Amino acid sequence: RQPIVAIDGPAGAGKSTVTRRVAQELGLIYLDTGAMYRALTWRVMSANIDIDDEPAIAEIVSQSEISLVESNDGVQVWIDEEEVTKEIRSLEVTANVSAIAALATVRRELVKQQQRWGAKGGIVAEGRDIGTFVFPDAELKIFLTASVEERARRRWQDIKEQKQGDMSLEQLEKDIQQRDLRDSTRAIAPLRKAGDAIEIKTDGMSISEVTERIVNLYHQ
Ligand code: C5P
Repeated sequence: RQPIVAIDGPAGAGKSTVTRRVAQELGLIYLDTGAMYRALTWRVMSANIDIDDEPAIAEIVSQSEISLVESNDGVQVWIDEEEVTKEIRSLEVTANVSAIAALATVRRELVKQQQRWGAKGGIVAEGRDIGTFVFPDAELKIFLTASVEERARRRWQDIKEQKQGDMSLEQLEKDIQQRDLRDSTRAIAPLRKAGDAIEIKTDGMSISEVTERIVNLYHQ
């Protein structure tokens, strides 16, 4: 198979933008696994299913088809017949996604799909468990981090730019810490740096600098 690059890290470390750019520069396919957990969360919420109702969620997972479609302005996210690219970034989905991503049935199904899509390689995959569980034999593993203050500031900027509402920096810091805590303490595939991953602390680095660093590591 062709090479695989795995990029993991906590919320708001800049993974999405960087992963997209790295994929572009290396001519590889970009796989945003967070978008899959988000699409499923959106589906569960729009069906008015309680996020604690694991049997009902398990049924939704087995019946839904998630697709990531390349388009001129980025990757479109679909679940069944609906395009949910914008909806999955809402504050509500963001607040609930970690709880749903912690369910065993959900992870089993989505990880299976990710491995199927990546079977031939040639991808840059972004998530929390890519280097540790999804593609443990990836050729290059990156763990992207930044201080919680920096990550909250970036989220705040995003929310302002996308006119998603008004949130204080303090609230965002709390939300990010809570999501990190859930993601890193769950029983299955918790957020963790793989032993052979290279950690990049992105405080004070621009997107181009981080991208260049990863592209250089790939070519080494
Ligand atoms: O990366 P993003 O913020 O879109 O991820 C949303 C959530 O999806 C994470 O907070 C985490 O709970 C879950 N996730 C995961 N495993 C992945 C990718 C995302 O559990 N590989």
